[in-house]
Amino acid sequence: MNYRTVIGLEVHAQLLTSSKIFCGCSTKFGAEPNTHICPVCTAQPGVLPVLNRSVVEFGIKTALATKSEIAPFGQFARKNYFYPDLPKGYQISQFEFPLSKGGYVEIETNGAKKKIGLTRIHMEEDAGKLIHDEDAPVSYVDLNRTGVPLLEIVSEPDMSTPEEAGAYLRKLRSILRYLEVCNGNMEEGSFRCDANISIMPEDAKEFGTRTELKNMNSFRNVERALEFEIIRQKEVLDDGGSVIQETRLWNDSKNITESMRGKEEAHDYRYFPDPDLVFMKIDKDWINKIKKGIPELPDEKVKRFIEVFKLSPYDAHVLTAEKATADYFEDVVKGGANPKLSSNWIMVELMRELKEHKTDIENSPISPSALSNLIGLIEDKTISGKIAKDVFVEMYNTNKSPDEIVKEKGLVQIADPDEIGKIVQKILSENQKEVDEYKAGKEQLLKFFIGRIMKETKGKANPQMVNEILKDQLQK
Ligand code: ADP
Ligand code: ZN
Ligand code: MG
Repeated sequence: MNYRTVIGLEVHAQLLTSSKIFCGCSTKFGAEPNTHICPVCTAQPGVLPVLNRSVVEFGIKTALATKSEIAPFGQFARKNYFYPDLPKGYQISQFEFPLSKGGYVEIETNGAKKKIGLTRIHMEEDAGKLIHDEDAPVSYVDLNRTGVPLLEIVSEPDMSTPEEAGAYLRKLRSILRYLEVCNGNMEEGSFRCDANISIMPEDAKEFGTRTELKNMNSFRNVERALEFEIIRQKEVLDDGGSVIQETRLWNDSKNITESMRGKEEAHDYRYFPDPDLVFMKIDKDWINKIKKGIPELPDEKVKRFIEVFKLSPYDAHVLTAEKATADYFEDVVKGGANPKLSSNWIMVELMRELKEHKTDIENSPISPSALSNLIGLIEDKTISGKIAKDVFVEMYNTNKSPDEIVKEKGLVQIADPDEIGKIVQKILSENQKEVDEYKAGKEQLLKFFIGRIMKETKGKANPQMVNEILKDQLQK
């Protein structure tokens, strides 16, 4: 039997506000347990929540960037459930009146574009964290994260492959990072994804029963969990069984999903409007003001990079995935370097060094203007592209300018035809046997001569010139 796959994703994005959603406590990650807490976020009797305006602003930014329609008024609701890291016994979230509805995120897989619809975006508070002692029968609770603001972004069931789900998540993360509303760190849990997936016979009219997958802390794991789940659900249906609606956890070491709890046990949350928080009216003027502050987003940047810099779509995508990379690229080009060369040097050499040194482009020891100067030295033929790679590594490790390194090490390219001519002559006369063989038709010996010439000049000879002069002399 052939099946179609249906995937919808719920993303929880932790917002980069400096304080929590309903109190003034810090949201900073990694502090000593229970040091970022107060009577409000620990739910002491009699306290009242006060909404953090920045949370709404970050939500509006996100809605604008995804063309999601912002509701003129909003309301917070209590989602009631008991959990040891949720001291109030309810989570303040939005239910009937979310921040926004509709909108989309555009993805591209195998060259095909597709708009993934959004159902809604709403604001809510995060819960704390439980830490289970492995050696003793004790659990600890850390309430630092309690009350940290989250945006929940719910997609329509518009994705049909794990690859599309991966592309959606990467694009959404990229947008949130451009907007500087979320750092997108999946490993630290500031960008979390619950993946809903079902399959249905190809000719069926109705969706199949979905399972909800949790506990994936990387894009790759989301894709792998979905791949596993497609196969598992197919086997269940092919065996005549039926998929049960449940939450399943991704087990990273076993590469499988495992049942956590059935939806039957799932709670009725008894949502009701939170009487401690007033209705929210969102001013049109405020929205317009926020709109003006939205930066150029990844999709627009890709288009501009292709049009203005004549980059390939692939290069444009890689360079714009992170705003910092795109800015770096533009600064290199502003310094006068050729865009295509700049793109290559950033994507290959710079990315490799940054990865090796486990750092990011914002902390690159090579500034955009230094890289621009290096590329300039290749363009005006002062050094060869090959030598430039060594200079680049030296720049990375010493912070010296390319000019300084080239001068110090005497790396200036030999581009004088007479000088190259003499060297070619010398090499040919030293290798008469190979010259005879070449003339007798063994043309692959050309590489041998080039190798000898490059060795003689320590790689400094201009390769094109060597090629031309060598062929010329061999014909004589
Ligand atoms: P819940 O709180 O029960 O998880 P939500 O409405 O928050 O419900 O999220 C439901 C998610 O599941 C959405 O992303 C939606 O697109 C997706 N979804 C709904 N039905 C299906 C289905 N049959 N197969 C796959 N995904 C689905
Ligand atoms: Zn607090
Ligand atoms: Mg869900």
